Amino acid sequence: MVPLRRPRCLATPAGIQLPTAPEYINAMSLFAIILFVGTMLISLWAAARVKSVYRRYSQVPASSRATGAEVARAILQRAGISDVEILPHDELLGDHYDPTNKRLVLSTHNFHGNSVAAYGVAAHECGHAIQHQQAYGPLHWRMAAVGATNFASQIVMWLPMIGLFTGILSWNTASWIMAAAWGVIMLFNLITLPVEFDASARAKRVLAEMGFIGTDEEMTGVRKVLDAAGWTYVAALITSLGYLLYHLLPLLTGGRRSE
Ligand SMILES: [Zn+2]
Repeated sequence: MVPLRRPRCLATPAGIQLPTAPEYINAMSLFAIILFVGTMLISLWAAARVKSVYRRYSQVPASSRATGAEVARAILQRAGISDVEILPHDELLGDHYDPTNKRLVLSTHNFHGNSVAAYGVAAHECGHAIQHQQAYGPLHWRMAAVGATNFASQIVMWLPMIGLFTGILSWNTASWIMAAAWGVIMLFNLITLPVEFDASARAKRVLAEMGFIGTDEEMTGVRKVLDAAGWTYVAALITSLGYLLYHLLPLLTGGRRSE
């Protein structure tokens, strides 16, 4: 077998005119195109799926009459948590638990509504509050990594532009910085997975145990909403892993050392 490392077919044989366009598309730029388009499609798919599944199950009322905020209050009370504020928020799907200020924020539709989706989201955010109360390891690692991850996000956004216009950094140095920054973001996204999946597992369990969700049909709705949200975190991990490899692989294989 001919070793594939230096494909001879890329060199133009003497006397033969070949189209030059493919020479401009080297392996890494092809990888960049696939990476950029592929990760964008995965992220768009995940975001669109969350929206469509949420829209569908926010129209399905649960048999219980309680609002999302009341469900959240009851779950927190059962867990012995009394110092977490439950607040409404205008932003659609902006629901979150803020561990620093001990605030559980629900979008108005989930706060006031009694849909299957509202229950799933409210119980999921309670899952984070309970993780916080129980000092769940991955949640604390994630909280500790927020500052570094924000910094890394700024680097991956601005460094390529600064490098392009000023040329201060060598290709090697810039690539190592980009690889390190994407590494931080990738690790953050990796820690996020157990945090999110654990909160969703707690949500499904507690909704059934407390009788807020009675039928299999309602539970299917809760599961679909939470699983769809889970895929957005998987998409973020795949994206950051792809960009980490894009910057790291040429450094490890000596791909573009001369620039
Ligand atoms: Zn969450």
